[in-house]
Amino acid sequence: MMQKPVTTDMIIIGTGPVGLFAVFEAGLLGLKCHLIDNLDRPGGQCIELYPEKPIYDIPSRPTVTGAQLVDDLMIQASPFDPTFHLGQQAEALEKQDNGNWRVVTTRGIIVEAPIIVVAVGAGSFVPKKPPFKKRAEFEEKSFDYAVHKMEKYRDRKLVIVGGGDSALDWAINLSPLAEKVTLVHRREEFRGAYDTVQQVLKLAQGKALDVQYGNVTDLMGKDGQLSDVEITTLKGDVINIECDVMLPFMGLKVKLGPIADWGLNLDKKHVEVNHETFETTQRGIYAIGDVCTYPGKIKLILTGFYEAAVMARAAFKYAFPDRKMAGGYTTTNSVIQERLGVAEK
Ligand SMILES: Cc1cc2nc3c(=O)[nH]c(=O)nc-3n(C[C@H](O)[C@H](O)[C@H](O)COP(=O)(O)OP(=O)(O)OC[C@H]3O[C@@H](n4cnc5c(N)ncnc54)[C@H](O)[C@@H]3O)c2cc1C
Repeated sequence: MMQKPVTTDMIIIGTGPVGLFAVFEAGLLGLKCHLIDNLDRPGGQCIELYPEKPIYDIPSRPTVTGAQLVDDLMIQASPFDPTFHLGQQAEALEKQDNGNWRVVTTRGIIVEAPIIVVAVGAGSFVPKKPPFKKRAEFEEKSFDYAVHKMEKYRDRKLVIVGGGDSALDWAINLSPLAEKVTLVHRREEFRGAYDTVQQVLKLAQGKALDVQYGNVTDLMGKDGQLSDVEITTLKGDVINIECDVMLPFMGLKVKLGPIADWGLNLDKKHVEVNHETFETTQRGIYAIGDVCTYPGKIKLILTGFYEAAVMARAAFKYAFPDRKMAGGYTTTNSVIQERLGVAEK
């Protein structure tokens, strides 16, 4: 059902690390933000793909996990009281007569603002599903396509399917916790990073991890709960492995989604921007983070943070030319400190 439109200063599509940091940068300038994400929680790739893995290249954080980084970005954004519209995709975009842009979500939320920030990363990502017969029967109760909380797998019997980094990393990380982890890969060569492959082979040698080369050929269980998985090995042996949870990591399909139809200049699914402002070819629409492209672009979180800072200032000047922008440092500017709620009384 369509809802009554709400108006704000900036609509950020995507709540990955870069979208979240844009709230902070916009907030310093006195701008209010609404954020939209088709996932049901903020954090983008950091939360969906590697919440418990350490990141080593965030300035001044020698190590921080994906989840910690997102928690801290949420804390940093909180003085500016952003509004989140989660579990819904930004679907339609249209220009209003007053110059504002209107975004309509798949849940019928309507938000209008002079500034749109496209921070959609690689787009909406969905896991590739394995072609196992009977998958549908067990999918809801016994399949996970992402690890949100490692504790869930304590003392469970897991079958991980895949040969890339995600499959190997989770086989390594979950093997000390689970009762048993079996890694199934259809070839004898893994696609993962060299060090990770070596770790997997070492664990397999020490019997801490069961590695099977072959294919899953049947699923067994009752009422949607898996009990066993049949594997046909590359040598042709048919074996049964006890299994409570199946974790297929067979890659992700990424779809840019509706944004591809918004009239923005695209270069291989990336949005072209002016790298002095991060504006797209449409006035008032900006793109930052993994989704944007320009000469010299590096796809890293730290680059996205920089882009958010430059974008916020450029967008402020464009949308509010008559307002004075609070410049200077967070350490010394009293207007900024008041907005942050840290000004001395
Ligand atoms: C395994 C792995 C390890 C990594 N390690 C590092 C590292 O060590 N250091 C580093 O700097 N980078 C690392 N990265 C890359 C880093 O995660 C990305 O650069 C970063 O997440 C990009 O942030 P973003 O906010 O641009 O996009 P994303 O994190 O991709 O977030 C985009 C968000 O937009 C949402 N979205 C998409 N389309 C729509 C739509 N139409 N409507 C609503 N919402 C939408 C998505 O659901 C998603 O939540 C790693 C990536 C992976 C996969």
